[in-house]
Amino acid sequence: MTIETIAIEGLTTPVSRIGLGTWAIGGWMWGGTDEKESIAVIRRALDSGVNLIDTAPVYGFGASEDIVGKALADGYRHKAVIATKVALEWHDGAVFRNSSPARIRQEVEDTLKRLRTDYIDLYQVHWPDPLVPIEETAQVLDDLRKEGKVRALGVSNFSPAQMDAFRRVAPLSATQPPYNLFERDIDRDVLPYAKRHGLVALAYGALCRGLLAGRIGVETRFEGDDLRLRDPKFREPRREQYVAAVKALNAFARDNFDKPVLALAVRWVLDRGPTIALWGARRPAQLDGIDDVFGWRLDEKAFRQIDAIVANFVKDPVGPEFMAPPQRVLVA
Ligand code: NAP
Repeated sequence: MTIETIAIEGLTTPVSRIGLGTWAIGGWMWGGTDEKESIAVIRRALDSGVNLIDTAPVYGFGASEDIVGKALADGYRHKAVIATKVALEWHDGAVFRNSSPARIRQEVEDTLKRLRTDYIDLYQVHWPDPLVPIEETAQVLDDLRKEGKVRALGVSNFSPAQMDAFRRVAPLSATQPPYNLFERDIDRDVLPYAKRHGLVALAYGALCRGLLAGRIGVETRFEGDDLRLRDPKFREPRREQYVAAVKALNAFARDNFDKPVLALAVRWVLDRGPTIALWGARRPAQLDGIDDVFGWRLDEKAFRQIDAIVANFVKDPVGPEFMAPPQRVLVA
């Protein structure tokens, strides 16, 4: 099955509408990871037609970017579109927003070294930093673009007003918000904005941190620093509601499309607009279902049926807000 692609302004290569998410590959907040398996996942993604690899310095405090760099050495770099991020700093495991020009100048060099490359395809501001004017951040990023270190610019977790501020100074090609059939706040503002201004939306959490892959039950346990231990969707009484919804969505997908719920969840993201679904994986077998996503579509009736299933089971919905990192505390 041929993978669907989409154009991102500033990039010459068409980008696959599934991107590999490599947060879990960094280990931090996902209960650890294995480097050999991680490299195998990245190469498996590329071999399956997924050319977009999304990473960030903060994922494993350099570990995810480093593993992506190792996986793309030996002739794989030209096959990949690397999307990484900037403007989160960390100290002793605590993470803060920092999008100051000085921080960005330092981070880009560290990132290029870890990725073992001399350019980044898509460079995204990870979270807006209320302590730095967006125009200043946009200016330094545009300078990096003109210097050839970066090919296209993106933002993540930005509101339309924040994107307006960015776009007054620099060309913006993409936005990266949370989006899946349980977490759809962006339908109200960010997605219409992306459509209006020609941005591609890289939807993160498309599988809702694994829930929509269909293998998590009420009894599933998470280990160590796994973020799902803090995720209100994975705690009772909500866990039971979400797991029941996934079971019903799986039956719906099987009966109507002969597909599993994972394919339905990714298709749902792709059929909503100019989107890419980020698919987090840390074992090659977790990408087995890529082909199931293509060659069919959801229509308006199917969207309504999915809405009804979600509303029927999820009585107490909650979003992904628990993930937002704090701003810096300025000491006088
Ligand atoms: P996700 O894609 O919603 O879920 C990833 C998890 O789903 C995997 O780690 C795996 O969990 C499970 N999974 C994947 N395929 C599976 C399969 N075939 N069968 C069973 N389980 C499967 O979560 P995410 O990693 O949070 O989001 C994806 C990417 O978006 C991230 O990696 C990152 O690149 C990006 N992201 C960005 C932001 C931001 O602020 N910009 C925030 C969050 C994420 P297990 O391995 O535990 O089974």
